[in-house]
Amino acid sequence: MNTTIFNGSRFVEARKTGLIEKIKYLEEQSIKPSLTVISFSGDRPSASYIRMMNKFSKEIGVGLDVKVIDKSITQSDFEVIIQEMNNSTEITGIIVDMPLPGSLSVEWLRKNLSSAKDVDAITYARKGALFSASRISPSTASAVINILEYNNLVSAGDHVVVIGRSEIVGMPLTLLLLKKGMDATVTVCHSKTKNIADYTKNAKIVVSAAGSPEFLGKEELMENGIVIDVGISLVNENGKYIIKGDVRSSDLIGYSSFITPVPGGVGPVTTYALFNNLIELVRESK
Ligand code: NAP
Repeated sequence: MNTTIFNGSRFVEARKTGLIEKIKYLEEQSIKPSLTVISFSGDRPSASYIRMMNKFSKEIGVGLDVKVIDKSITQSDFEVIIQEMNNSTEITGIIVDMPLPGSLSVEWLRKNLSSAKDVDAITYARKGALFSASRISPSTASAVINILEYNNLVSAGDHVVVIGRSEIVGMPLTLLLLKKGMDATVTVCHSKTKNIADYTKNAKIVVSAAGSPEFLGKEELMENGIVIDVGISLVNENGKYIIKGDVRSSDLIGYSSFITPVPGGVGPVTTYALFNNLIELVRESK
């Protein structure tokens, strides 16, 4: 059997022109989308994601400012920074590098970050809107939907197993898959699920967002099935750190009908989805 290996960069190239046109249209009306990334000092797993955002922002001509805050910042100082950014007329989107350092309240952020600038849909307002017809979804969940739609992978009623129930990936993705139009039949698995293969082996589509390196292979997956690998883990192999997905993808060549590699699959599409959200936020607030 032929296995299609999804190329995230090629997908983004195909969509980039559309994004640039939307940005130009906004600029003609004197609206300049601009993204601020709040990151924290120290080694953060998100460093490569921020580099990708930086590169992509330059390619599409959107301003991106990375503000690195000392990880020992107090809650009250953090609140001042967020309020200033909420009120800034120059910043149109804000993304905060998660998880927050231990001294900061994620609850406060979810309540107080301006939902009009909440580019990754972390606020309660945006999360609530996911139950209705919101155009802004957390970018990774949105990336998975983009991949499924672009490649016509889901038919009404199809069984999709989502592995992971996090607030930024698994949960919002489940809601998006259930929506009218997508019409999937969804099973959600997590670390307490017993015998995960009982579910994944019988699903036409498996989306894995566990962050458990290479824990899925032929034994757990349906022959001819579709596998979307969201997981990213840094694994030390002979003293060298290597990025691994949740899936043993080399196992699946000639076995699955469609797979997304790690790196190079979901990752680039997530960056695209984030900037698409940035543009949608600006259009929404016009
Ligand atoms: P998370 O908050 O740690 O959530 C992981 C979820 O997977 C949890 O619900 C956990 O279950 C479940 N899980 C963990 N190990 C499992 C296992 N062996 N079997 C079944 N379920 C398991 O992580 P996240 O933020 O959702 O991210 C998930 C993965 O996606 C990470 O590797 C992350 O780096 C990656 N990611 C990739 C992108 C991208 O653009 N490609 C973007 C964001 C995140 P419990 O709830 O029971 O703990």
